[in-house]
Amino acid sequence: MRNFISELEQRKKAGLYRVRRQVSGPQQPALTADGKELLSFCSNDYLGLANHSASIEALRVALSDTGLGGAASHLICGHHEAHQQLEERLAAFTGRSSALLFSTGYMANLGVISALAGRGDTIFSDQLNHASIIDGCILSRATVRRYPHGDVASLEAMLAETDGHKLVVTDGVFSMDGDVAPLRALAKVCREHDALLVVDDAHGFGVLGPQGRGSVAELGLSEEEVPVLVGTLGKAAGTSGAFVAGPEVLMDYLLQKARTYIYTTAMPPALALATCNNLDLIGQGGERRKHLQSLTDRFRQEAAALGYSLMPSGTPIQPIMVGDNQETLALSRALEAQGLLVTAIRPPTVPEGEARLRVTFSASHSHQDLDSLLQGLSDCCHLLGHRDVADDKARLNRGMVETCLYG
Ligand SMILES: *Cc1c(COP(=O)(O)O)cnc(C)c1O
Repeated sequence: MRNFISELEQRKKAGLYRVRRQVSGPQQPALTADGKELLSFCSNDYLGLANHSASIEALRVALSDTGLGGAASHLICGHHEAHQQLEERLAAFTGRSSALLFSTGYMANLGVISALAGRGDTIFSDQLNHASIIDGCILSRATVRRYPHGDVASLEAMLAETDGHKLVVTDGVFSMDGDVAPLRALAKVCREHDALLVVDDAHGFGVLGPQGRGSVAELGLSEEEVPVLVGTLGKAAGTSGAFVAGPEVLMDYLLQKARTYIYTTAMPPALALATCNNLDLIGQGGERRKHLQSLTDRFRQEAAALGYSLMPSGTPIQPIMVGDNQETLALSRALEAQGLLVTAIRPPTVPEGEARLRVTFSASHSHQDLDSLLQGLSDCCHLLGHRDVADDKARLNRGMVETCLYG
């Protein structure tokens, strides 16, 4: 039998051991975690809708109409008019013909990818795609080829030498780097090489584009250009769940084939209604997004001036690159000692040698909250002794991407 205890010990030694914090009360910047009051900069609640009074009231009202549980899968008797309404709202909001709800983004990616590609097909996946995309690729049993992050020329060369059915999958906004995929160029090469493009806009939805319609809408890319659009509802939308949107034929196909859609209980219908309400708030959230951008812009300027190594991101995901696992943990702990919660992100969530702090902003943060973060970072500058080495390592890793084949 494997020695699980020693594997855990090794993880601890390598600075890779993970623990949970126990939160009490609502998710908001002023967070109670393990009984301590902290100012949090690590949630994905970009618009502050996870604890918005109108959203909570919408859920309360919806609960009395629909009851609590989803009770069955969509194809048995779980497909409630509340789900139908949310699907139609999501399709309209993203400018797509139709949409299909999933219970989480993880499930959506698993189901969508494994339904749209199979044995004998080829999936092309950005090197920095989210774990749920990687797992969806494995589950599909297709041949998987990873292309260097955002490198459309490399992707095109791979597409040109591949026959058969081709699927290209990318994050819209990369979850750990915060940069946006070159979606227009990706759409173009996919069209030229008859590949089906899947964009997972978990972090763009609600944040980017007109009315927060996402990274695909920001570039005005149509359903023909981006036929499969995945979005999640637990981040900017402030509730829970996910969706895929696109042409009716594809959505019908997924309804027949996506096993994570078919073999799972529908989300509580009240949650679907509350999410409809939050879609209104997202659409009207221009001021929230403007404030979010002003926090992001100010952070970039002032954290860079402190000597921190930021990444080329214009979104509310603002990683501080450190490199070494232990050093990243030390920085995170030092900030926590000052009442600031900024989690350390380590491999395998990010590539080896690219451990970082992942700072995220929410429209519920005030500029005074940002002052506190910057003060904390200023006080912790001295902890970053080996930053140059880390930077070099990071560049090295980014350069040597294997186009690995698995599955
Ligand atoms: C968070 C995330 C998911 C998973 O969504 P959940 O609803 O949390 O399961 C999928 N893709 C990306 C890019 C994400 O960041």
